[in-house]
Amino acid sequence: MALIVQKFGGTSVGTVERIAQVAEKVKKFREKGDDIVVVVSAMSGETNRLIDLAKQISDDQPIARELDVMVSTGEQVTIALLAMALIKRGVPAVSYTGSQVRILTDSSHTKARILSIDDSNIRADLKAGRVVVVAGFQGVDEHGNITTLGRGGSDTTGVALAAALKADECQIYTDVDGVYTTDPRVVPKAQRLEKITFEEMLEMASLGSKVLQIRSVEFAGKYNVPLRVLHSFQEGPGTLITLDEEESMEQPIISGIAFNRDEAKLTIRGVPDLPGVAFKILGPISSANIEVDMIVQNVAHDNTTDFTFTVHRNDYQSAQQVLEATARELGAREVVGDVNIAKVSIVGVGMRSHAGVASRMFEALAKENINIQMISTSEIKVSVVIEEKYLELAVRALHTAFELDAPARQGD
Ligand code: ASP
Ligand code: MG
Repeated sequence: MALIVQKFGGTSVGTVERIAQVAEKVKKFREKGDDIVVVVSAMSGETNRLIDLAKQISDDQPIARELDVMVSTGEQVTIALLAMALIKRGVPAVSYTGSQVRILTDSSHTKARILSIDDSNIRADLKAGRVVVVAGFQGVDEHGNITTLGRGGSDTTGVALAAALKADECQIYTDVDGVYTTDPRVVPKAQRLEKITFEEMLEMASLGSKVLQIRSVEFAGKYNVPLRVLHSFQEGPGTLITLDEEESMEQPIISGIAFNRDEAKLTIRGVPDLPGVAFKILGPISSANIEVDMIVQNVAHDNTTDFTFTVHRNDYQSAQQVLEATARELGAREVVGDVNIAKVSIVGVGMRSHAGVASRMFEALAKENINIQMISTSEIKVSVVIEEKYLELAVRALHTAFELDAPARQGD
């Protein structure tokens, strides 16, 4: 008998009919004899609706504590509805808010971190044969204030509960049937991955793949909780995310291609080549709370150098202003920027044991005449910045070059 935590996202509980379908599904698992803890999100669109209400009444500046009281109601509705649907089908069930379980968090409202989970209620209910339905996305701080874990936080609740209960698997049910080699909307030949490592998934998630909340993957890796991404209403094995690297070694060198269009590039030209300059450039950027992603500094020429970095597109304007001020202070030549860029990354633990992966990437891009503006690498990924209009071409070319395309079906 296994203990499984199943998390259903907003679209999977988006209507009363769908909640009934989820109940049917949970019932089937229960009939196999497994112990089931279900974590649900709010009905799709509900969290946005609630945040919008809060903004309307507070001139766009809702008090974080009250916002948490408010948005946590979304999940409180779906746990009750699912528990009702289960009980109606003859499956004993009980719902709990985060605070009722006692998912203890710190007090950082709207982005709280889980400190500990009291598993005694849940264990007692499971022992009594009940399915336990827990509200995702929420917890309680030491003073009894309701907290929330950040957008998409129900994934984290699911993984954290699975870790606390030492569950056999944490299943994340969503509107896709697994993790793909890349976005199938861009590459129709993208394939579902049977398996991927936590490390790879983390890179894929940070690099733009939106299947799982990044924090939940970090958490799963840290506590070694086997995670499986599955379609809520279609049968199939989904994608298993584990620590296990051995089997991945037999897989292709590259597991997937991630991309995002959310970044913008800024360059400060002709800065003096002196100790402390990088700090003088990026210090004020980080003081302005702007996150920097890729950074490139060239070798100096005539005692000056160019310094380029990328930021989120939403931060572009403010980063530019900060950088203009720095440029005046440092006597730099000019500041130039570009928002029409995209980042494409190849990800795979297989890179560790294979040489020449980056050059194979560059070759594939060269063949398509795509200019590379920036490059950054880690042990298991290579990212490049290119002009945005070539993004889809680049992703397709790389998908083919790294032999990720699904084999043609007969008759294709
Ligand atoms: N309902 C929350 C959100 O929309 C949490 C979640 O869906 O995971 O962000
Ligand atoms: Mg959601």
